[in-house]
Amino acid sequence: MNDSERILILGAGVAGLSAARHLQQYGFQVTILEGRDRIGGRTWTDDSLGAPVDLGASWIHGVTGNPITDLARAYNVPTCLTDYDRVSLYDPQGVPLPYTEFLRLKEQRRAVVTAMNTLPVPSPADISLGEALRRVLAADPLPPAAQRALRYGLRILWEHEDAADLDDLSWRHSQDFDAFPGEDHILPGGYGQLVNALAAGLDIRLNQVVQQVLLQENGVAVTTDQGVFTADRAVCTLPLGVLQAGQVAFMPPLPADKQAAIRRLGMGLLDKIILAFPQQFWPPEPLQFGWLTGDDDAFDDFLNLAPFTHRPLLLAFTSGRFAQRLEEKPDAEIIGGVMAVLRRLFGNDIPAPHAWRITRWRSDPFAAGSYSYVPVGATPDDFDALAAPVAGRLFFAGEATHRRYYATVHGAYLTGKREAERIRQIRDKS
Ligand SMILES: Cc1cc2nc3c(=O)[nH]c(=O)nc-3n(C[C@H](O)[C@H](O)[C@H](O)COP(=O)(O)OP(=O)(O)OC[C@H]3O[C@@H](n4cnc5c(N)ncnc54)[C@H](O)[C@@H]3O)c2cc1C
Repeated sequence: MNDSERILILGAGVAGLSAARHLQQYGFQVTILEGRDRIGGRTWTDDSLGAPVDLGASWIHGVTGNPITDLARAYNVPTCLTDYDRVSLYDPQGVPLPYTEFLRLKEQRRAVVTAMNTLPVPSPADISLGEALRRVLAADPLPPAAQRALRYGLRILWEHEDAADLDDLSWRHSQDFDAFPGEDHILPGGYGQLVNALAAGLDIRLNQVVQQVLLQENGVAVTTDQGVFTADRAVCTLPLGVLQAGQVAFMPPLPADKQAAIRRLGMGLLDKIILAFPQQFWPPEPLQFGWLTGDDDAFDDFLNLAPFTHRPLLLAFTSGRFAQRLEEKPDAEIIGGVMAVLRRLFGNDIPAPHAWRITRWRSDPFAAGSYSYVPVGATPDDFDALAAPVAGRLFFAGEATHRRYYATVHGAYLTGKREAERIRQIRDKS
């Protein structure tokens, strides 16, 4: 048994940190190369608005049996239940709807989703969720007000969860995504707490932008903008968007089926706009505010951050093509658009925000999007193809390499652990 094998990890997000921690525990010499000047990747806790706010991942999705729940417990990181039924809905004119109406609309959405899920589409053909919706509504039309409510409901259910428009999401594979049971919990102090705990004691080199990965007979050589690092093996945790952009050259080129999977899978976009106000002007009780405008391009989904941060902070979510278009726009225009909606919901006398943070995950060269999804034309097998090791030297982890838990922090964590285990088995057999 050779305990001194050297392993390079590309990327210090949750997958990279998980791989590194497990490998270090197994006795390997591990170095992480990270392109940014910070760790955490698509988990990123920002303190500039006076309280910790997550600009990337916020929730532990499904706390029961979730390894991130175990980590939070182990590191004494508090978590807080999110009750998605604490919602206030507003009609297009900004008039609040009674709570009974929310419950009725939820039931209506459930019926439409069931009809979409059970559409007769002969296998293996696929359609988009958008097409599935059109077919259901053609067979069983809804009045305009109900359609507006449905538009919002499906945006929350799918477009913001999967970070893509209904017209871009696979219908056939929309139910293949797996979730841990239990509620969703937010980390009021931010994901940064977990990331810092995971990173403790690891050799992490920041500002090392990987440019080339060279597979050699007996090892790997990784070239960054600072120099060349060699090791026995490497674990690549670079995001799908980075691989799609071809920012890193692999020599020899990656196998054809891996390249095809990288092309076929979708890299979605979810962005956050967080506004800091001098005082809270919205009702304290709801966690979420929804505007049933019916427009595709609308700021219609707001999260009340005050209960978690004890500060007057509001968060607006945007996703898919709308978010993509917004990334090109200056802050002032985006904030103006959000404020126009907030004035409609809460009146013209509300104060202006004195500070804000706007994410632009697509334009971020170290992410090139928010997280992966299955578009029409791809299947979950593509996640497996992306995960497959190359020549026993180069290994792949990261959220887009988990066929059941892609797009999540726990998925990323589990893939890092998976690849560490794989490398340990190779060592133990040799
Ligand atoms: C807005 C948003 C909200 C989200 N909400 C949730 C949520 O509530 N719950 C949840 O479970 N998940 C959520 N996610 C998804 C979750 O954040 C990701 O699935 C997870 O963090 C991905 O981890 P990773 O290690 O696979 O990738 P990353 O965290 O992206 O790590 C990859 C690392 O590689 C680095 N890198 C990239 N290119 C190079 C290069 N050329 N050289 C060197 N380093 C490089 C990056 O800087 C990064 O640090 C959200 C994501 C976003 C963006």
